Amino acid sequence: MFTIAFRNGISNGQAPEGATVYNEEYLQDSYKKINLKAQVGETFMDFVSLTGNIADSRHPYVSLVDDADSISENPWFFRQLRQFLDLGIDNEAFFSMSCLMYFLELTGLQIPPIHYELVRKPGHEDDCLEDCIEALEDMDHFEHSMRAYLAAGTEIYDTPLTVYQCNSIEDVCIASLHFLIINQYNIRKCKNCGRYFVAYLRSDAEYCTRVSPYNKKKTCREDGPKRTFEASINADVVKKTLKQIESARRMRKHRNPDNWDIQTEFDEWHTAMVRWRKNYQSGGISAEQFLAWLEEHRSYTEDWDYEENYI
Ligand SMILES: [Zn+2]
Repeated sequence: MFTIAFRNGISNGQAPEGATVYNEEYLQDSYKKINLKAQVGETFMDFVSLTGNIADSRHPYVSLVDDADSISENPWFFRQLRQFLDLGIDNEAFFSMSCLMYFLELTGLQIPPIHYELVRKPGHEDDCLEDCIEALEDMDHFEHSMRAYLAAGTEIYDTPLTVYQCNSIEDVCIASLHFLIINQYNIRKCKNCGRYFVAYLRSDAEYCTRVSPYNKKKTCREDGPKRTFEASINADVVKKTLKQIESARRMRKHRNPDNWDIQTEFDEWHTAMVRWRKNYQSGGISAEQFLAWLEEHRSYTEDWDYEENYI
């Protein structure tokens, strides 16, 4: 058994000048001596963004469960979890408590047991709360204590933690999702790397703050806007060029119904073009590479080399 605990909000309920705003998450397993601090939802966002074999990843959830292979026993859950996130990112009405409950009904899961913990601030372990205010004459100890807490509790005690008791990776995912939803965090999908993230500062943020997969020296937030702008220009150019070349080639084919060479060359070009386009659309080749190939075969190519154009 392990726990995931969250703390968010302002340190004493209201917002005085310079109040601490918490945005914390703790993954804890006292038996395994694991205590990881992150931002709320951070480990969950990394987990749902994993690709490849989950058991082989170095994600902290994997080290928390005894049998890492058991994660792969429920691939449906992982898929449905992502589908649910995608639905909610598209339409935030899905990120409501009732939709989460229905999601749990469909997946046969439950919100793990929750409790709240009031802990003392570091360095205040031995402080006496009752010393903070004077007791009036007719006050008993209980009332004095309660009044002292209301007046000065935040000096000694921290904002309570919401703690979920987990037994599985499914539990820690549901716990995180539950906390994110009830506290109305903004879950997004990065337009640069495609991974999920929580937009803590701006609800309309489009890029995460992870290292960009395309430029190790920059974060997605720095690298993304420029890259997607270039990509959208390239996509436009590719579309236009392809349309131009294809219609000119079709015309030539149409005008030469008796020329067998032109007829077969067009078919061969077309088969190759479809493969190149598919490769470009799936990210296998860049817009520049696809454009270069298109330009190279802009017009009739004698002795079409099937091998050379196979991709
Ligand atoms: Zn990103």
